[in-house]
Amino acid sequence: MKEITVLSGKGGTGKTSITAALASVVENSVFCDGDVDAADLHLIFQPEIDEEHTFYGARIASIDPKKCTNCGICIENCRFDAIRSDKKGELTIDPFQCEGCRLCERICPSEAITSERSSNNYWYVSKTRFGTLVHARMGPGEENSGKLVTQVRKRAREIAGQNNANYIITDGPPGIGCATISSLAGIDLVLIVTEPTKTGLHDVKRLIELIRTFHIPAFAIINKYDINNILSDEIEKYLEANHIGFLGKIPFDREMVEAMVEGKTIIEYNPGSPIADKINEVWQSMRS
Ligand code: SF4
Ligand code: SF4
Repeated sequence: MKEITVLSGKGGTGKTSITAALASVVENSVFCDGDVDAADLHLIFQPEIDEEHTFYGARIASIDPKKCTNCGICIENCRFDAIRSDKKGELTIDPFQCEGCRLCERICPSEAITSERSSNNYWYVSKTRFGTLVHARMGPGEENSGKLVTQVRKRAREIAGQNNANYIITDGPPGIGCATISSLAGIDLVLIVTEPTKTGLHDVKRLIELIRTFHIPAFAIINKYDINNILSDEIEKYLEANHIGFLGKIPFDREMVEAMVEGKTIIEYNPGSPIADKINEVWQSMRS
């Protein structure tokens, strides 16, 4: 069984559409949506949920105003500047700033501070027409530390083992943060989907640097290559110079968007399209 993660270095490259298109050609695979911050693979997969689980996230502290004596010790010691005094002089903790380190809880002389894990994140195991999908939904404002990605990947691996699946295909998170690092650990292959824009080139360079530290073989495709042929050539040269297996270019095509709007992969939407042929070629190159 091989684990493949599709990454982009940035949002908007068409990574999810390409991952979904691969689902139309890959056989006996478990799928995983590792882009838990902005999960959208489900829009095409249209999952039927079998399992729903709460994911307990980071701790967030809160202050009981009845116990607080306003001594100020917590404000002085919070390194994340999360504790503020409101207009009435009452202390509150900003949940977006609080890192859940619990220091304030330990040093408060009045035992006025407690903390709880957030329970606003969920992960699911679902049936889809392509096979099992493990996916997640993060609550608004929740921080993606990568632990939820690790959780969905862990469950995908268990299911792949039980089903004797040949592959786990993960739609990875954009960027190069903790969530991306969590989506790379222990995998066999990366497929990079990039686009010919200045930010696309910048971000693919950072992503390749990151992948290199994991010593994972990587392939790449340039999506929407014809929106800027000069940059597309530059990216291709960069990929080749950095020993990334270049699998080809996909033209911009409105049908990719139309397919997504209809909840289909491009191969379901138009099996005879040049993009459908290209996706097939990409998969044949990756599996061999
Ligand atoms: S340390 Fe405790 S008692 Fe002092 S201001 Fe903070 S919450 Fe209030
Ligand atoms: S838990 Fe840590 S980050 Fe949060 S308010 Fe307390 S000291 Fe600050």
